[in-house]
Amino acid sequence: MSGVPRAVFRFVAYDLVQDQTAEVVRSIMCVTGGDSDCGATSGFVGSEDECVEWIRRHARDNPGHHRFQRAYVDYAVLVLAEKDST
Ligand SMILES: [Zn+2]
Repeated sequence: MSGVPRAVFRFVAYDLVQDQTAEVVRSIMCVTGGDSDCGATSGFVGSEDECVEWIRRHARDNPGHHRFQRAYVDYAVLVLAEKDST
């Protein structure tokens, strides 16, 4: 069929890599509890030592609170994939 426009798509390969320029951030949530968790959160902190310190203070101020959820957040960027030379 002549006269029918054809779309040509060009696919570009990308890799998803961790952004080394951004610091990994962490947060802690106390999940101690029976039917409902305590739910206290540290907010975002920058280092593992800060996490441990927050947990230590929370456990000191709330006897029996010994179970925590740890979350680690990083950043990622898309970069052009390196061409395979083989
Ligand atoms: Zn707690």
